[in-house]
Amino acid sequence: MDSEDAEDKMNVYVLGVSSFCSGLPFFPSFVLQYGADYLLVDPTANLSSAIRLCNKVSGSRLSMADIDACFISHIHSDHSSGAIDFAISKYYKEAKRGNRRPQFLGPAEVVDACWDLVLKGTLGVTFGSAVPDYQEIGLGFDSFFRRVELGVDGSPTRVGGLEVMLRKGIHAVKGGSYASKFRWNGVTVGYSGDTAPNMNGNDVPDVLEFLADDCDMIIYEVGGSHPVEGHTPLAILRSRIADYLSADDAARKVFLIHYPDSFLNEPLQVIPFQLIQPWHCYTVSRGRVEVGEPTPKGRNLLKAIMSD
Ligand SMILES: [Zn+2]
Ligand SMILES: [Zn+2]
Repeated sequence: MDSEDAEDKMNVYVLGVSSFCSGLPFFPSFVLQYGADYLLVDPTANLSSAIRLCNKVSGSRLSMADIDACFISHIHSDHSSGAIDFAISKYYKEAKRGNRRPQFLGPAEVVDACWDLVLKGTLGVTFGSAVPDYQEIGLGFDSFFRRVELGVDGSPTRVGGLEVMLRKGIHAVKGGSYASKFRWNGVTVGYSGDTAPNMNGNDVPDVLEFLADDCDMIIYEVGGSHPVEGHTPLAILRSRIADYLSADDAARKVFLIHYPDSFLNEPLQVIPFQLIQPWHCYTVSRGRVEVGEPTPKGRNLLKAIMSD
């Protein structure tokens, strides 16, 4: 297979780009497609609606039924609440049709914290429909998901054909927050999750170094205006990037997410980086990222959603 073959490409379907207090729908969230497989990364709340909007804007045919796995960078609800939507859809709709439980990928401490602090309250009890008085039945993590624990030392964990590498970032959250790299057939997509840069000059390496090393596309959060808030402000990302990437590579590879709404109206202010566009589909191959044009209907939808 040569490098132009579709087998050497990954698709990134963007379900949401913004966080709390945004006027735009959906939290930072995307679906990776590699071959015939799909991985949901940081599931947004109202997941079905986000998938539908992405399909309308990008002309894609993404379907919840095709997504067989999810990964969560950390348990803050702008990154994890859609796991409830995902579990409910899979458990109450697909499992009844005999489909297997989806995989849930993450470090042990994130998976455990996600069940205990995000999912259990909604998913932990259901009613037994087979009994006449609808008795309550206790459910556990394994009722909904197949657990796939990922290594946390930066070396790859294989999940089917995919390799996943993690590095812990600095973020105030139970279970921690992890940057991730997803590699398939030599193509690598990286995602920062929420992380503050290391401002103390100690030995904790920046997540940026981990991602800049070998990613073809780097999806990086720029929430917040000061690192003590647990995020990477745009000005700090800009000042640090030169340690790891040339200006050309930064412009080509780094796509911002988790950004303020105002960035969409003034895209020049984010130079040298690119903004990841909401509900678009990106195709990533070795050394190259291409964005799909929205459909005519999608263009109208975007105009309606973005206008003040
Ligand atoms: Zn967070
Ligand atoms: Zn966040």
